[in-house]
Order: sequence, then C-alpha cells, then structure tokens
Amino acid sequence: MLQTVNLKDEKAGYQPYVVLPYQKSSTGTWPCWPEEPFWDQIDPTQAAYYQEQDKLYGTTLESPWLKLPDSVKRYELKQGVDFDRVICGITLRALVPVTQSLALKNQKWRDMLKNVQTVTTMAYQLWFKKTAQETGYNPGNPAYKELQALNGGFARPWGTQADLTHLLAAEDWKVPDPKYLIYSCCPMPMPEVPVPQADHGYPGRQTQKVKTEGWQWLNQWAGQLWPNCAPKDNPAGLDPNQLDSEYWRAGTNYTEHYVLSVPNSTQYRLLSDDLGIKNFFIAGDWTRNVINAGCVEAGTISGLFCARQFTGWDIPIYNVNPAKGGWTGT
Ligand SMILES: Cc1cc2nc3c(=O)[nH]c(=O)nc-3n(C[C@H](O)[C@H](O)[C@H](O)COP(=O)(O)OP(=O)(O)OC[C@H]3O[C@@H](n4cnc5c(N)ncnc54)[C@H](O)[C@@H]3O)c2cc1C
Repeated sequence: MLQTVNLKDEKAGYQPYVVLPYQKSSTGTWPCWPEEPFWDQIDPTQAAYYQEQDKLYGTTLESPWLKLPDSVKRYELKQGVDFDRVICGITLRALVPVTQSLALKNQKWRDMLKNVQTVTTMAYQLWFKKTAQETGYNPGNPAYKELQALNGGFARPWGTQADLTHLLAAEDWKVPDPKYLIYSCCPMPMPEVPVPQADHGYPGRQTQKVKTEGWQWLNQWAGQLWPNCAPKDNPAGLDPNQLDSEYWRAGTNYTEHYVLSVPNSTQYRLLSDDLGIKNFFIAGDWTRNVINAGCVEAGTISGLFCARQFTGWDIPIYNVNPAKGGWTGT
C-alpha cells in the first residue's frame, strides 16, 4: 500500500468536501467533492510537488502515470495486525495493476478481469451566455423543441447533450452569470497497447487531444444544436465568444473508466463472496448485482449485497430477491 500524502495537521484530519450554498436542499448547503484535493490541508512540500506535476503533465494523485516523489510511504498491511476483513470497493480497471498476485492464483478473478470490460470516456461542459431558448436550441426534430433536457443519437462521437442548467444555482459565478449549461460525455478510443507508466505526459496530451478534436466537432455540428451561437462565417459551428466558460476532460485514469456490459460477460461477474476467500468481499458496479451495468443503482445494490454477506444480516434490497439472484417482479 502507498501513502501518497502526509497531512499538514494529522490531528485535524482531512476535510474532503467543498460546501456550496444550495437553496433547494433541506440544509441550504450541498457538500460536494472538489475537482482537486485541498492542498492547504496537505504537507506543503508534497502539495507543491503534486501541483507542479499536474501543471506540467496533467497527472493527478489518482493517475497511474504520476511520477511519485521519494517521500511516498510504502506499507505492507498484515492480517490480524492491521486488518481482519477486507471490503474491496475499488473500481474495475484500477484493480488490474493492484491485484496481479490474486489474478495469478485465482482463476475466477482472472476470468473476471479479462471478460468484464471497461472503456475510457471523454466529456465537455459548456456555459453559455444565452438561455437555451436564445441559443435557438434545436436537436433536429421539431417535436423535441420543448424537450430540452437531453438529446441522444446526434453526430458521433459527441452524440448526447444534457441540459444541466439547474446546477448553475449551486455554482459560484461572478457577474455575468451563465444562463445555460450543457454536459456531453461519450466513449474515448483507447490505445491498443497499455501506455507505459513512465510516459508521465500521457494524461495531459489526452486532455489536449479531447479539447482540440472536440472543438473540431463543435465547429462541424454545433450550429445544428445552437444556431444562434454560430459564428457569422460558419453557420455549422460555435462561436467561443458565446460561452462564459468551457471544460474538457479525458477520463484516462483507470479510476475513471466506465464499466461496460459486453455480450457474454455477465457470467464472469462475481458475487460479493464468490471468490471463496473467507475475509475478502467485493462491491461495485462491476460485480454481479442484478443490474450488471455501469450505473449508480448497480453500485448501490452491489453494496447492499456485500453488506448482507459481510454482516450475515438479512438486509432487504428493494425489489430484489438475493436468494434467487434476481428481480422479484413486485
Ligand atoms: C463518465 C461517466 C459517466 C457516468 N454517468 C453516469 C450517470 O449519468 N448515471 C449513473 O447512474 N451512472 C453513471 N456512471 C457510472 C457510475 O459513476 C458508476 O456506476 C458508479 O460510480 C459505480 O460506483 P462504485 O462504487 O462501484 O465505483 P466508484 O464510484 O468508481 O468508486 C470506487 C472508488 O475507489 C477508489 N479507488 C480506486 N483505486 C483505489 C486504490 N488503489 N485505493 C483506494 N481507493 C481506490 C476511487 O477513487 C473511487 O472513489 C458514469 C460513469 C462514468 C465514468
């Protein structure tokens, strides 16, 4: 196990949330994960080092391509001394490098890693100065004119756009406020051969590639979605001056891979205690969990299955009969 950071104040611990004002919640606030760690809570030398790496290479603390400093502490945890039982909730692709010895010994684990697959994704977010209506939003079919929440099946690769304008209420914008917020996310082609860990600049290059190719796409297709935001000399495109801000992301890190449901893969998914290792339990959207697809509900049901096995308690799972391994149909 690696300990990548030391805290500035061990006693105070680490406060992970950014608490946003949000009138619609019962408390008037909304605790959210920030995009990067709170550097002021981390040892200043390490904080400076990791921020520099991110600036130079786009490598975050979760990146397999991060160049680790010498200050990283390495531990070997011992059963009976440091832990009794293990719940493994790490996401699927990130398990490949950290469970190599288990894969060598255990056929079921090896088969699961090989057959339940993942994909990298890429995403953009656009903050418009105009409202949806003012942009002339039109997903192609006049029947959808009033249905502005989501479109799908549009030109690939960015075939889906979702209207997330309601989130603006929770964002800390200075004047002028954006009026319309769009999210898009889609699969990103993966390299055929794994990229070596020593290629520290890989994540940064991927982010740049997403942005460059994303803008090429916007300049070819965005005019059909937001015709009133196209530049005068290119009705097919998008004028960047129509935006308050933009955000581009390559989901390159293994922890960000999306879990797929490829044909014939469900049989290789494992139930929480399927490995037959008495003190080892698994949870996550990649386990066998009734839904067997990459979504929050699958992760939640899997967590409940895991809790049942871990505690031995008859914890109910809504609409699921775990004894039968399927929906009850109620
Ligand atoms: C781009 C994208 C868009 C998505 N959109 C939707 C959506 O709209 N709706 C929906 O329902 N689902 C969506 N999903 C799927 C959803 O995010 C997952 O199904 C869900 O997060 C799975 O939960 P989990 O607990 O299994 O895994 P995760 O939420 O991935 O949690 C696993 C945790 O393990 C941690 N971890 C990884 N490696 C280590 C390690 N070595 N040591 C310690 N910790 C580690 C990770 O940091 C992470 O916090 C999306 C996924 C992606 C990638």
